[in-house]
Amino acid sequence: MKQNGFNPFEMAQAQFDKAAQLIGLDDGTRELLREPLREYHFTIPIRMDDGHIKVFKGFRVQHNDARGPAKGGIRFHPQETIDTVRALAMWMTWKCSVVDIPLGGGKGGVICDPHNLSPREQEQICRGWVRQISRNVGPVLDVPAPDVMTNSQHMLWMLDEFETIHGGRYPGFITGKPVGMGGSLGRTEATGFGLVFHLREALNDLGLKPKGTTAAIQGFGNVAQHAIRLFQDLGGTVVSVSCWNQSESLAYTFRKKDGISLDELLSITDSFGGIDKEKARELNYEVLPGENWIEQEVDILIPAALENQISRENVDRISQQVKVIAEGANGPTTPDADERIRNRNIFLIPDFLANAGGVTCSYFEQVQSNNNYYWEKDEVLGKLDLKMTSAYIAVSELCRKNRLYMRDAAYIIAIKRVAQAVRDRGWA
Ligand code: NAD
Repeated sequence: MKQNGFNPFEMAQAQFDKAAQLIGLDDGTRELLREPLREYHFTIPIRMDDGHIKVFKGFRVQHNDARGPAKGGIRFHPQETIDTVRALAMWMTWKCSVVDIPLGGGKGGVICDPHNLSPREQEQICRGWVRQISRNVGPVLDVPAPDVMTNSQHMLWMLDEFETIHGGRYPGFITGKPVGMGGSLGRTEATGFGLVFHLREALNDLGLKPKGTTAAIQGFGNVAQHAIRLFQDLGGTVVSVSCWNQSESLAYTFRKKDGISLDELLSITDSFGGIDKEKARELNYEVLPGENWIEQEVDILIPAALENQISRENVDRISQQVKVIAEGANGPTTPDADERIRNRNIFLIPDFLANAGGVTCSYFEQVQSNNNYYWEKDEVLGKLDLKMTSAYIAVSELCRKNRLYMRDAAYIIAIKRVAQAVRDRGWA
């Protein structure tokens, strides 16, 4: 999304260049992996409810599919940019690789604002997106999923259009479908739970237990809510959450020093993860400015809202008490802030490792859909825990062995696997 001066693709490339340098990647492979393999730009003409035709701009970027079909969400956002899509596609490649699932990286989007579109118009955009790209996506090519402002209903419309064009049932074409229509149990919880599986392991490495630790979280949407649920179940205390107030176009932090109640806050939260400020005050929450989430005196910070949230401007406001940062959002930390975090010896669980629970469960959904056989929720979450824990251990062992920063260790593992696949296929 457009944010003054911040280009997520340049940031993704800078992170890649640094890791490529560390592993001494050869020039050809480096050149190949720092750009997407394929990009599709297209127009989607829609007859609006009032009868006029409006043309929307759609994208799909396939960063790399050497390890398996591309995988990644489709965003609907008025400020969507091709560079955001490119960055997210690249991060998907590393994310699938670091947790060792046989998928590549992709991402898509449409420049539009669903707040101002009727359900029929949204359905037409979904179907139009699939019509423009139906020969370049599919269960063995590129498997889309929901992302910002797209949901299971959008996925089902897209699946229906794909199946109509291709004349068959292909539930493995897309993930994030409704449970009962090809969706997987556990997908809703997967990203937040996955993050806490990593956090549990990180605390263990630091000789700490979740019980007795405190956390401040930016965001109160899907990732944050489920992370809070599991963290509290493990005995941790969440001191504050923050969220966006749509009517005021402003963020607020909601704090209760002895611990927020998830169910209490959920009862006053809208479907976009926005908390009702007045009702929160009535429930004795302190209502603070949005940016205050970062300066809470806690053991753990979890940015789980947006990219570009920990930057040069606010990184020094992080309390001396903070021992762990677990990045729930994609790209929440800018490279200069990252350098400060590393120098302060704060243990960081990087985004593409910390939030990989979502795509891992999407992979489980694809496997179930392709087999037309669906697992129980406990089975899904058990497999998720195993995948997250194994990935965490591989990264933290490399980290310890070579005295590396967690982000660098995660990048080294992810890039090496993709580079190997690219070489084995004879591409570089
Ligand atoms: P969501 O839309 O459900 O929730 C976003 C939350 O962030 C909301 O509570 C919103 O109010 C809050 N927010 C927005 N702007 C804010 C601001 N300036 N300050 C404070 N809070 C703000 O989104 P989500 O699915 O929870 O995703 C959160 C992040 O995690 C995104 O970066 C997303 O790309 C990433 N992610 C999500 C998944 C997933 O499975 N949902 C998987 C991987 C990564």
